[in-house]
Amino acid sequence: MSEEIEKVKCLIIGSGPAGYTAAIYASRANLNPVLYQGMQPGGQLTTTNEVENFPGYPEGVTGPEMMMQLEAQAKRFDTDIRNGWVTKVDFSGDVHKVWVDDSKEIHAQTVIIATGASAKYLNLPSEQHYLKLGGGVSACAVCDGFFYRGQETVIVGAGDSACEEAHYLSNICTKVTMLVRRNEFRASKIMAERVQNTPNIEILYNTETEEILGENDLVTGVRVKNNQTGETKEIPCTGFFVAIGHTPNTQVFADYIDLDEQGYIKYAQPGTPKTNVAGVFVCGDAADRTYRQAITAAGTGCMAALEAERYIAAKGH
Ligand code: NDP
Repeated sequence: MSEEIEKVKCLIIGSGPAGYTAAIYASRANLNPVLYQGMQPGGQLTTTNEVENFPGYPEGVTGPEMMMQLEAQAKRFDTDIRNGWVTKVDFSGDVHKVWVDDSKEIHAQTVIIATGASAKYLNLPSEQHYLKLGGGVSACAVCDGFFYRGQETVIVGAGDSACEEAHYLSNICTKVTMLVRRNEFRASKIMAERVQNTPNIEILYNTETEEILGENDLVTGVRVKNNQTGETKEIPCTGFFVAIGHTPNTQVFADYIDLDEQGYIKYAQPGTPKTNVAGVFVCGDAADRTYRQAITAAGTGCMAALEAERYIAAKGH
């Protein structure tokens, strides 16, 4: 039996830096926000070890700790934070209808989508093993590259992200080996040329990852295979970076919200968090294929809450 319909002024979907920042602003503006945390409370940062580039933490902070602090800050202003997964929406009318866990129905004046994106992984058991241990495997060079300074790293991927991250690592690490599964890059020519012309980046074409190797919980190398010759070899490294793309968590909105060809939500008005549906706003990685940083997510979360406030004020509610 379905529960009674709940009416809210501002519904925030997602609990990364974008969602919590939106919550802090919306609650301080008396929008009484309700925030659903989704599958991974705290979002992608909960899989990051140390965050050293978020302003205001001169000594750094762990990803999970930062997310607990953001949650506590949102709670301090009485954001109603709940566990739950949005399974259906109907944005066809003036009232935005959202269903949580296939049962609870919510009617929201404004909705802030902060569902983020998920990094893709190779899904090799050894990759997942070291990822869960929290050292040696990462999907974010800008976040974690610094921990491998002066060391050798391997990065898999051949798109713009992989090129950007390989170049970033090349400034920190002694050597970066790039694994490209075809005999060419997917990245734009200029980005590919930049890595091809960087002396401490070695590119292995037609090469796939077989296994991440390690000792005592630390990564020591990668075994790779040339998919043309069948030859395998081991590359020593202490860090393995995966840069094979992200999947934005936006499919549930696809019938109503304009998405680009990769599923990122399109801004209806660049420079604002507005979507094509009035009263529905987006922030963070769900609409950001380029920057994907905690600080940019937080910034857009603030913008989304300010726009939600304006929308409600203009409606005279
Ligand atoms: P892309 O989807 O463009 O590239 C993914 C890359 O990963 C491809 O080279 C793909 O190989 C490879 N890959 C996928 N799965 C595997 C696998 N299982 N094993 C090995 N390799 C794999 O993702 P990006 O994140 O690089 O870019 C996403 C979008 O963001 C693009 O539109 C890009 O242009 C844009 N972007 C722009 C930037 C900029 O302009 N500064 C910076 C970063 C991103 P294959 O080619 O064989 O399919």
